[in-house]
Amino acid sequence: MARKKSGFVLALDIGGTKLAVGVFDSSHGLLGRAVIPTHAEEGPDRVLERFIELAESLVRQLGLEHSQLSRIGVGCGGPLDAETGIIYSPPNLPGWDAFPLKKKLEEHFGVSAFIDNDANAAAMAEQLFGAGKGYKNIFYITMSTGIGSGVILDGKIYRGTNFSAGEFGHIVVARNGPRCNCGGRGCLEALASGTAIARKARREAARKPESVLSQKPFSDSGLTAKDVVAAARRGDSLAKQIFLDAAVYVGLGITTAIHLLNPEIVIIGGGLSRSGKLLFDPIRQTVEERAQEYIAGFVRIVPAKLGKDVGIYGALAVALERCPSS
Ligand SMILES: [Zn+2]
Repeated sequence: MARKKSGFVLALDIGGTKLAVGVFDSSHGLLGRAVIPTHAEEGPDRVLERFIELAESLVRQLGLEHSQLSRIGVGCGGPLDAETGIIYSPPNLPGWDAFPLKKKLEEHFGVSAFIDNDANAAAMAEQLFGAGKGYKNIFYITMSTGIGSGVILDGKIYRGTNFSAGEFGHIVVARNGPRCNCGGRGCLEALASGTAIARKARREAARKPESVLSQKPFSDSGLTAKDVVAAARRGDSLAKQIFLDAAVYVGLGITTAIHLLNPEIVIIGGGLSRSGKLLFDPIRQTVEERAQEYIAGFVRIVPAKLGKDVGIYGALAVALERCPSS
């Protein structure tokens, strides 16, 4: 139908700390965006209600009408079923137990909603609009409070048997490493996520009074991975070592991944990817040292391009991938 083709897309990014909505025109131009805190403790019904209000008010502000909406794309923390659009208790969204997100959105808006996990969504967004343009075999990693990934093979996202492929944060990189939230031990996420970096920094700083991490403004329990990056940039040797250790573990993980997948490009996104050389130099060096030259020689390891808007572009990419023709 002609009207549907000219319609706009509502892109919803559901995270544990923020909800972001983007409105895109039929040529994938971003018409507007809005963000609010998630307040996940309110539970799924109230969170979704506030999110829908936000989306509706953005649509009104843009002078658009409900009837022009063609479809909805959603990126959300998993686990989830990308076909039925049911969310299964993501760790960052307490109470979203078997929550029928797709059904609720379709009932409210009267158009099709397409849902995928946020790492897959971000991988597809980088493929369509960012650092992965022109590549068919892409390994996308997101590094922030947790670590996730999206695998694109022969141009298509690979979801696995029950939509759980790409759990890069839970590959084991240290036999006797620290316990992970998943119940495992030595997972990459337990060694190199923002949470793991901050935890190690707090522990080590208490023992090393000479480090800036044990002095103000860093010296409190709110110490974050971002603070570790800032201290490392100022030359603090403890911060540099903590960050280096984490980056080397990520390099080891990537070494495993590239032997398994033989990608053309590894794209690293998420908050920690903005650490520049501090992150990328040790990762590239580790891969160079530890991977087979024949495989490593082909692969580029680069930062993501979409930055903070990756969530809404990811949600758009989900809608485009699942419903390319309308
Ligand atoms: Zn784990």
